[in-house]
Amino acid sequence: FPCQVIRNFSIIAHIDHGKSTLADRLLELTGTIPKKALGSNQQVLDKLKVERERGITVKAQTASMTHTVSGRKYLLNLIDTPGHVDFSWEVSRSLAACQGALLLVDATQGVQAQSISVFHIAKERRLKIIPVLNKIDMPASQPERIVAQLQSIFGIDPDEVLQISAKTGQGVDAVLQAIIERIPPPSASVDEPFKALLFDSHYDRYRGVISLVSIHNGVIRKGDKIASSHSRKKYEVQEVGIMHPEELPTTSLQPGQVGYIACNMKESSEAHVGDTLHRVGIPVDPMPGFQPIKAMVYAGIFPVDTNDFVKLEESIRRLTLTDRSVTCQRESSSALGQGCRLGFLGTLHMDVFRQRLEDEYDASIIVTAPTVPYKVVYRNNNTVIVSNPTEFPDLSDASTGVKEVHEPVVKASIIVPEDYLGEMMELCFSHRAEDVGHRFLDSGTTTSTRVILTCTIPLSEIVTDFFDKLKGRSSGYASFDYEDAGYKASDLSKARIKICMVFLLNGKPVDALALIVHRSAQQDVGKMWVKKLHKVIPRQLFEVPIQAAIGKKIIARETLKAVRADVTAGLYGGHYERKMKHLENQKESKRRMKRIGSVDLPQEAFFDILSTK
Ligand code: GDP
Ligand code: MG
Repeated sequence: FPCQVIRNFSIIAHIDHGKSTLADRLLELTGTIPKKALGSNQQVLDKLKVERERGITVKAQTASMTHTVSGRKYLLNLIDTPGHVDFSWEVSRSLAACQGALLLVDATQGVQAQSISVFHIAKERRLKIIPVLNKIDMPASQPERIVAQLQSIFGIDPDEVLQISAKTGQGVDAVLQAIIERIPPPSASVDEPFKALLFDSHYDRYRGVISLVSIHNGVIRKGDKIASSHSRKKYEVQEVGIMHPEELPTTSLQPGQVGYIACNMKESSEAHVGDTLHRVGIPVDPMPGFQPIKAMVYAGIFPVDTNDFVKLEESIRRLTLTDRSVTCQRESSSALGQGCRLGFLGTLHMDVFRQRLEDEYDASIIVTAPTVPYKVVYRNNNTVIVSNPTEFPDLSDASTGVKEVHEPVVKASIIVPEDYLGEMMELCFSHRAEDVGHRFLDSGTTTSTRVILTCTIPLSEIVTDFFDKLKGRSSGYASFDYEDAGYKASDLSKARIKICMVFLLNGKPVDALALIVHRSAQQDVGKMWVKKLHKVIPRQLFEVPIQAAIGKKIIARETLKAVRADVTAGLYGGHYERKMKHLENQKESKRRMKRIGSVDLPQEAFFDILSTK
């Protein structure tokens, strides 16, 4: 395939606007996969169990297809991307391998928060953008109105907008046509020395690391000797091929193509995402890599059985290879033993990672409460980033010498129908939002106009249940996106300072349950937490005091009574029913109990901490 007949593109959209469905239709229409019965909701590219269960795309996937137009055969490389704000790193990474993007917008919902953010990422990368309205088969679709919206928000020419139904297949032909006509072929050369961008990788049990690459110049074949610009390590190519959509070996990868390389990389860490590969002895200027990502939320992950730590760490290492946005460090807890402290881009990201560890690696784990990283500035101007509650200094003790605590803030944008503006403003203010502003998105002709509300808000306010509240209080209409806006000082003299709260079981502190809370909320949070713990911890043979403490001060207490001598009586009490109910809720009945000191602490004690406030 010469460059002129190659098109590398991506589908970008807000979550649920139909990316994966359209990807399936394109694969069917080009005969890459067999046609499925209409109405089947199984997306071919959503391979992970967590993706199929939740109906969201987590990992960007690559698929190649061929399409013939007036006797000329084209090679189309599609990169499907996730839409959720937590996975924006995947989006920008996928786009680095493309020359064009289909901007898909749901014709019943119009432009949503992530439509705007992905549009800007694509614009920055100078990609050709093809606007596509989807779901026009739905009675509630309002194509004219959304086309006007695209024009006013993005300056898109209404004549360029395609209208389709990814579900029925209506108009999808025109999408293929537009990809070929409007997206420029990659500018690559056969004669220049081999140069490829490594943009993704995963681990294969038999062949080691498989890297996804986009070939910028030159040709690569089995047996070629290549090297990494990043590590300077050398490899011999064992296999090359394309994703069709499964791996399909080919004799070579040509300039402009997107495909995979297996080259005997043994260690996950060797495949450095953003690396430039070249031929041994013929170095090239490395391409700009990807910006290192910044973790927004940290949590500890520990094996239920302490003996499983080595296995767990290896599983985490393998999994982080397919998701480079996760950062990992060892951590040890007096209550839970050896574990890892992981950094994520958001709580959905964290939850998905946890589920993947359980699904794909059969791990039995305990995840501690998520924390954002705080910047603690001392009077001698030393600055320390604290991402673990137990390392948070005791602010009530003046001798610790803390001058200021800075917390991370984000610039948030929320899109809602005008009617919910008041409700949304209230929600933002109750989460310490500042610089709240808004502007209208549609130009006033329709009855229900939509507004975009922007504000600066502390990250700690949105990592727990902000998204759920946002959805709940807007009847599901609000969409939400945010970007990092640095750190902001919270003055020590103000009441808003954060403190660390620790819980004690039987007088022993459980460090893994520690939380960072507002000083103003300490009483409420402390009380609520000991109550919750009291509910989830099964009764023991002896009485267990459950206490919340700040520094040395106990601020709340509940007492868990001992099981009565008649064991069966205890079994039919509330605890037994709760336990059964929980077992039913869980897919597997594998009980996750952690013995801490002499007390059995169930997994849900740790899970429940996720929904604080
Ligand atoms: P993604 O999150 O952007 O990948 O969205 P999906 O492809 O998973 O689609 C989200 C939901 O919208 C699924 O339930 C699809 O069946 C549905 N959907 C996608 N395209 C259409 C369409 O053209 N018409 C209708 N009626 N439903 C669609
Ligand atoms: Mg999807």
